[in-house]
Amino acid sequence: MAVGVLIAERVLSAVDAAADEIVDFTSTLIRIPTVNPPGEAYEDCARVIGERLVAGRFEVDYAAAEGRPEHTPVHPRVNVVGLRRGRAERPAVHLNGHLDVVPAGEGWTMDPFSGAVNDGRIYGRGACDMKAGIAAAVYAAEAIRRAGIEINGSIEISATVDEESGGFAGVAWLAEQGRLTKERLDYVIIPEPLGVDRICVGHRGVYWFEILTYGRAAHGSMPFLGVSAIDQMSLILDRIRRELAPVLAGRTTAVPVVPDLARHPSINVNAFAGGQPIDGIQTPCVAGTCRAIFDRRFLLEEGYDATKREIETLLQRAAAEVPALKYELRDLMIVHPVRTPEDSPLIAAVGRGVEQVIGRRATQVASPGTYDHKHVERIGGIRDCVAYGPGVLELAHQPDEWCGVDDVINATKVLALTILDLTETR
Ligand SMILES: [Zn+2]
Repeated sequence: MAVGVLIAERVLSAVDAAADEIVDFTSTLIRIPTVNPPGEAYEDCARVIGERLVAGRFEVDYAAAEGRPEHTPVHPRVNVVGLRRGRAERPAVHLNGHLDVVPAGEGWTMDPFSGAVNDGRIYGRGACDMKAGIAAAVYAAEAIRRAGIEINGSIEISATVDEESGGFAGVAWLAEQGRLTKERLDYVIIPEPLGVDRICVGHRGVYWFEILTYGRAAHGSMPFLGVSAIDQMSLILDRIRRELAPVLAGRTTAVPVVPDLARHPSINVNAFAGGQPIDGIQTPCVAGTCRAIFDRRFLLEEGYDATKREIETLLQRAAAEVPALKYELRDLMIVHPVRTPEDSPLIAAVGRGVEQVIGRRATQVASPGTYDHKHVERIGGIRDCVAYGPGVLELAHQPDEWCGVDDVINATKVLALTILDLTETR
């Protein structure tokens, strides 16, 4: 059921009254260059968010990822978690954003960490991915408080590290510690930049693997004395192109992955190295080894086991035909696809919030890549998780990244209404 008109009006005007603060807070976060790799200034950023939460009557805790190898004295992995109880413990609504950003990279026409606001846009690395999302989460809770509403449940907000590099010291770690689990939480919303009228209900799977081929080194002037590992690898690449790629192009998922072309599975060669390292021109040998790294994105319907078996079968067929082919297959990273159940009350609640604030029906989408949803579901066991947040996905990781001021304000409103809706605070 939608949030009552009176209570909705109070909270929406509290968001409008805080509009300048929300924009300022986003800029403040952008000015802390939490670049990953290597993981700069995480603690500074966690503290700024934590102080804002304390001011909003949250109990705040800084959770350093003790025991994780990436948590070092130089680059500590500090997450921040704030909890504010309402009239009841449950339902517990958790909003999670990652505080790390990818490096600025080339092509900027401005300082990537200025947080400048111009013509209704907030600029900077992390503007949309996802410091605006963190600001929206924090101020959704704050607007509820300023409107004098006590909810029938609790709100927890976390800002976590390392999403851009897998989230193992961030969301995965909190879930492993029993803090981000179904025993404590009912709903998780991740305000990633999916667009203010779209609800993201999951992502595809990732199978990263490497193939090594082993030839026999020989003098480059007498290649007939050796076996080229690069030639061996090219046999495999050729089979992938001729046999596997067309099969993948013919498969489609029922999950609403965007963009449209990502509804098909894919395989890409992400890296390739064979023979001696190329330093100058002196590489006088037949390549004894070759290594390539593959990025196979798979569909929920395909599943990991069948995806891996397909690669193994392809390699076995190649080896049967070319007996000299010696290879090894090694798994590098496996991310299983996730999908929020279609009957999730969370999808319905965010949808009602979008209709009330934006005036349009929300579209359901799924991510072509992956994000922290996987850890929430697979380690935390929480089925009701979606991504919903301000900003345009295509601007993430780009030079001159920005997020619209209207988007941040609207997403803050939708998140606030969603919290009230899920906790049946009428
Ligand atoms: Zn992100």
